[in-house]
Amino acid sequence: MASGTSSRANALPELQTLFDLAAGSATPLPLLVLRLPEFERIAWREGKRQARRLERKAIAAFRTAAGSVLRADDLCAHDPGSDLFAVLVAGTRRSSPAGALSCRAMLERIGSHLAAQLEMRVETGWAFYDRGASGAYAIASALERGARERERYEFFSAIGHELRTPLSSIRGYLETLIDEPLNEETRRRFLETAQREALRMGRLLDGMFEFSLLDLSRVGLAEAVCDLREQIARACEVVAPLARDRGVSCEIDELKAELEIALDADACLQLLVNLLENATKYSHAGGCVCISAHARDGDAVIWVDDDGPGIPHDLRDAIFSLRVRGSQCADRPGTGIGLAIVKLIAERSGGNVRADDSPLGGARFEVVLPLKADFRTMPS
Ligand code: ADP
Repeated sequence: MASGTSSRANALPELQTLFDLAAGSATPLPLLVLRLPEFERIAWREGKRQARRLERKAIAAFRTAAGSVLRADDLCAHDPGSDLFAVLVAGTRRSSPAGALSCRAMLERIGSHLAAQLEMRVETGWAFYDRGASGAYAIASALERGARERERYEFFSAIGHELRTPLSSIRGYLETLIDEPLNEETRRRFLETAQREALRMGRLLDGMFEFSLLDLSRVGLAEAVCDLREQIARACEVVAPLARDRGVSCEIDELKAELEIALDADACLQLLVNLLENATKYSHAGGCVCISAHARDGDAVIWVDDDGPGIPHDLRDAIFSLRVRGSQCADRPGTGIGLAIVKLIAERSGGNVRADDSPLGGARFEVVLPLKADFRTMPS
């Protein structure tokens, strides 16, 4: 992992000092590891001088962050010219050695300070250093454990995000049923919607271990077929409680033709709910949201429009990445997961999604999904 750009500015002990100290300890000590994956690329592409500058900056940021988090007898280390920083947590915390939670919290604080100062990605991880293990092995297992923990975190965040929408929809319908006098037909419709969402939540939970952002089954999505008009109507019902809370009107632009698309009904509903929920969340209070669909060249094209602030041009690709949130919407609750799921579902079914300007003044999300084979020849 060393790039050979040794820096005289490095005044931290080298990693070996840290392993020697750990080897002399009677109990295994936590080893925190931080890695700058961009460092080597910068050394190769931009030269050693640039890499040294980055290294000096990284050492200073590491020192500052570590200084505010660590105890006096914890040991920080870095080999000159390498992309690795490490901490041996030797100091006791409340009379017991640091546990998993405090190791993660320390890593999070040091890692996020480093990432913010350097404006680059930082990989982190920790493991107990085993006396017999080689330094390289200890570092590799700490980073591997960190990667696994991040994956798990993304996975559960995605599940949490997807369960929150049906849950708040059910709550909204039940509150209306309890608080407002409704005629028999409306009561039944609300109960059926709440029941359908409860069943969908159950299916999401059943599929929890198969469904992950990294492994959404392509076959399952592409083999199934659903009626787009029906799923649009359902998605509007799901977001109705949120729309009501914000005083937003949600319009469906009547579909001219029946559109059977080559996508599983649950995945289609999930995609539509995520887009409609965003449109409702980001539109002006008391504003409007519109969803429409038409056929084009063997595909169904769905437009979700709103009258909110829209999406700045420089963010139109980035917002589909996991955990990217626009600063103009920072006051609205969110996790930066919904659009990543929309993109994943659209692409896994052979379609795509993009953000544009809406004639309503806000954002337009255009989703293209393949029609079922025998609908492809139909005129729109
Ligand atoms: P979240 O809404 O939870 O932040 P998403 O992945 O659904 O996460 O959206 C990512 C970002 O895209 C949002 O933080 C917001 O900045 C922007 N965005 C999404 N939909 C809209 C919209 N309809 N209008 C304006 N901005 C939007």
